[in-house]
Amino acid sequence: MDACGGAAVSCLGHNHPDIKAALKSQVDQLSYAHSAFFTSQAAEQLAEKLTRLAPGNLNHAYFVSGGSEAVESALKLARQYFVEKGELSRKRFVARRQSYHGNTLGALAVGGNEWRKEPFTPLLMEHLYISPCYPYRDQRDGETLYEYGQRVANELEEIILQEGADSIIGFIAEPVVGATSGVLTPVDGYFKRIREICDQYGILLILDEVMCGMGRTGTLFAHEQEGITADIVTVAKGLGAGYQPIGAMLASDEIYNTVSEGSGFFQHGHTYMAHSAATATALEVLNVFERERLIPKAWATGNDLGRKLKEAFSDSPFIGDIRGRGLFWGLEIVQDRTTKAPFPVTSAIHKKIKQAAMGHGLMCYPMGGTIDGKNGHHILLAPPYIISAEQVDELVLKLKKAVNSVLPSEYT
Ligand code: PLP
Repeated sequence: MDACGGAAVSCLGHNHPDIKAALKSQVDQLSYAHSAFFTSQAAEQLAEKLTRLAPGNLNHAYFVSGGSEAVESALKLARQYFVEKGELSRKRFVARRQSYHGNTLGALAVGGNEWRKEPFTPLLMEHLYISPCYPYRDQRDGETLYEYGQRVANELEEIILQEGADSIIGFIAEPVVGATSGVLTPVDGYFKRIREICDQYGILLILDEVMCGMGRTGTLFAHEQEGITADIVTVAKGLGAGYQPIGAMLASDEIYNTVSEGSGFFQHGHTYMAHSAATATALEVLNVFERERLIPKAWATGNDLGRKLKEAFSDSPFIGDIRGRGLFWGLEIVQDRTTKAPFPVTSAIHKKIKQAAMGHGLMCYPMGGTIDGKNGHHILLAPPYIISAEQVDELVLKLKKAVNSVLPSEYT
């Protein structure tokens, strides 16, 4: 049972007949056409559909081959937007500590995961970092969740004032943090305050929905649930559902028009961008979401999964927090629920749980070093939207067996 879709990719399972048929039919018509010369019907239809479904005025789509390429495109487009406006002093992004935005040099540089960057530091630009929205670890005594969210959001304003707004291009964050911190859902009001600060200081808001987008959290775009709009959004993973490698960057009218009326073109590109097979596949993925009403189903089944996980692990001293939205859940592993003390990454609990789960016929996505690179573990769950109620029960049972077979035997 694949309960993580690889890395939150295979949102329609591994054998959807409609997706396979759409892919085959596209390849029968056209193998490849370079986007510098041609567009394709598939790419145009996907762009039309995705931008129509996107919130706000994200009316322009740019297709690439994965998440890192989408983030690279976003960073470059954001910089070019200010270059077109003559604001050349804007050079840096603000991101959050422990964040992950991809592995290419630009995306790696903007990420807040120090251990991933270490060997490559001389090759990476330096950016600015604020705290993630991680109440389980950082909420203070006596502080409400709302107050907590405002406090950490206000760190963005503090850093802008400290560094000067005219040196900053934008703020990049995952609306719901995925792999690096085990599904962190934002607290109420957090992203509204972030949007307000971006507007006040004229910096762009870039939302990285590579993992949490495309229905994963129960709405097509995760940030729909925050009541805000973004200037640029990146998606990938669920967009091709694993049948094809594809990512996309969506940009606002303001950004598109500024570049169009300025130099006239976005100075970027890749050989395989807007590939017809990948875009035809993604178009069919969106069609299947609609035909099978899978996104509301992901929301409903996800609530069920969350409730059952909480019940199943209610007596476990090792599961400190269970959090998530839609079909995107994280379980944070601790030595003791009351102290919240994490295990060091050297304990390799994540690897042992992964192996034990495989022994029970379950693929889940445990990770280590999730607090500061040296401590902390969590298990990420991202099952396909087609999962049935019975399969949710099976998932929870297998996971419980796997977790219990590793933790009590070694640490009690
Ligand atoms: N951004 C986020 C939030 C991700 O989770 C990932 C991959 O896990 C990426 C970007 C990079 O995507 P890719 O691995 O497709 O390059």
